[in-house]
Amino acid sequence: MKNIRNFCIIAHIDHGKSTLADRLLDVTHTITDREKQAQVLDDMDLERERGITIKSHAIQMDYEQDGEKYVLNLIDTPGHVDFSYEVSRSIAACEGALLIVDATQGIQAQTISNLYLAIENDLEIIPILNKIDLPNANPEDVKDQIVDLLGCDIDDILSASGKTGEGVPEILEAIVARVPAPTGDPDAPLQALIFDSEFNSFRGIVAYIRVMNGEIKKGDTVKFVNTKKEYEADEIGVLRLIQEPRASLKTGDVGYIISGIKTSTEVKVGDTVTHRDRPCKEGIDGFAEVKPMVFAGVYPIDSEDYEDLRASMEKLRLNDASLTFEPESSMALGFGFRCGFLGMLHMEIIQERLDREFDMNVITTVPNVSYVAHTKKGDKFEMHNPSDMPDPNSLDFIEEPFIKAQIITKSEYTGSIMNLCMSKRGVMTNQQYLTSDRVELTYEMPLGEIVFDFYDKLKSISKGYASFDYFLIGVRPAKLVKLDILLNGEGVDALSTLIHADNAQSFGRRMCEKLKELIPRQQFDIAIQGAIGAKIISRETVKAVRKDVTAKCYGGDITRKRKLLEKQKKGKKKMKQIGNVEVPQKAFLAVLKLD
Ligand code: GDP
Ligand code: MG
Repeated sequence: MKNIRNFCIIAHIDHGKSTLADRLLDVTHTITDREKQAQVLDDMDLERERGITIKSHAIQMDYEQDGEKYVLNLIDTPGHVDFSYEVSRSIAACEGALLIVDATQGIQAQTISNLYLAIENDLEIIPILNKIDLPNANPEDVKDQIVDLLGCDIDDILSASGKTGEGVPEILEAIVARVPAPTGDPDAPLQALIFDSEFNSFRGIVAYIRVMNGEIKKGDTVKFVNTKKEYEADEIGVLRLIQEPRASLKTGDVGYIISGIKTSTEVKVGDTVTHRDRPCKEGIDGFAEVKPMVFAGVYPIDSEDYEDLRASMEKLRLNDASLTFEPESSMALGFGFRCGFLGMLHMEIIQERLDREFDMNVITTVPNVSYVAHTKKGDKFEMHNPSDMPDPNSLDFIEEPFIKAQIITKSEYTGSIMNLCMSKRGVMTNQQYLTSDRVELTYEMPLGEIVFDFYDKLKSISKGYASFDYFLIGVRPAKLVKLDILLNGEGVDALSTLIHADNAQSFGRRMCEKLKELIPRQQFDIAIQGAIGAKIISRETVKAVRKDVTAKCYGGDITRKRKLLEKQKKGKKKMKQIGNVEVPQKAFLAVLKLD
């Protein structure tokens, strides 16, 4: 136990976490060149493309120093706010954290939010200035920022380059010297934290665990404290480049357990594994059920694909327990599913996986957050869909989720960022200069305003020089109304949104303008109206096409004419027929692109 070091790496996206992890594996000869892919710890394609780590993994390294042998377990953490609960459980499995800061970028919003999680869990923090090889590195300034943030000594900061390998041996030395060895009682009843899990199509669910107390042996009968289910530990082992089976895992060890579980929903991150016959008194602190926060309808473009879509979603859920879905039908779109996601990135990932891995053509409707409706009778329920909105006569009030948002930016952009946040109903609670030209703004804002187009706008008004992170702080009463969209007088349920009453007028107007841009001209005029209840609040018209498109072909060339018609037909595939109006797929997400 005294020669084990369990640590994670926390960093803002692109500050070099994966590259550095890769270097550590190199230097400790954990992987040979032949085995090495570009970045070992990010092994999903999608992940590599987006440069983010979606699912956390762990890897064990052997390391020798002054004749003493050490086992280092690196626990990788997902870098995005949508997965912050998983990050918190990975952090809980460690005693130390490498805090990586890009020497050209300085401290960013995620650096801070992940750092807070690490500090809450009493981790030893080793600050590392990374990318010092870059000519535009600004080591002195960034070191000052780190000292301000951590209150550490400037000499505690290591400097490294994941690219050249400079400073990497010193990082390993620091891990051994500064990260405390695990503590815990080897003779106590078993208590192992599940910090992650993964679906394997041959073996079922592999749960990643950190043994906090006691020992687990192959073949033991174990119990999961929160789900209360019992299993046999069919296989346990450590995580090298591949899983290596072992006879037992002891206090302080990090490894995996396979116990014949077939679906991801049975294994909950944060749960505690104990023995059935000699159980621990209580589970490890910090367990929570992850709850989806963002909901959207997902519909097949071709209604015949409904069953295929269901099968695809079921497969996706096998390895992603945080995805939820239930059948839903829309008058406009037919049969589909209401899906729950952890956040906007999670939603995009699922959409992309449906497209790439399952070749499913889907329409995703406007996302909304989960609201709590209170009726006059005193009932309360969660609304995941604008159509859940109760009749105004029976509704008492609605509550909406609120977040605390941290934005770090250059001071020249603060004015426009404050305007943006204000337009999103944000209230500033703190403003702090990190250096003379970098500011941290703290806001309280409704989550519902973030799911629309906040992040894109933030990026564009700050020319990319703003980082953003948030966490939930609870629900607050909100004055919400349901805005409906009518096409030629017919309501299109899939285009309805819940919106704050004060913004409804301008929102309705902009929605109609946007839809007018997106809906192509057809053989007749199309009236687009925004309505709250029976009251029409905005209107636009898409004028009918005057001339036949094929007229362009001067009557002559018949093959060209046919090609044009075929092209039109293909285009139509991406359209949905609503009443007599053809509506393109992107119109259903018009709300995300409002000016
Ligand atoms: P992550 O998002 O924190 O995992 O960051 P990555 O490890 O994927 O690195 C982001 C980008 O920075 C990649 O293009 C890396 O090649 C590059 N990078 C990482 N570390 C260094 C470094 O020390 N020096 C330089 N010049 N580039 C680096
Ligand atoms: Mg990465």
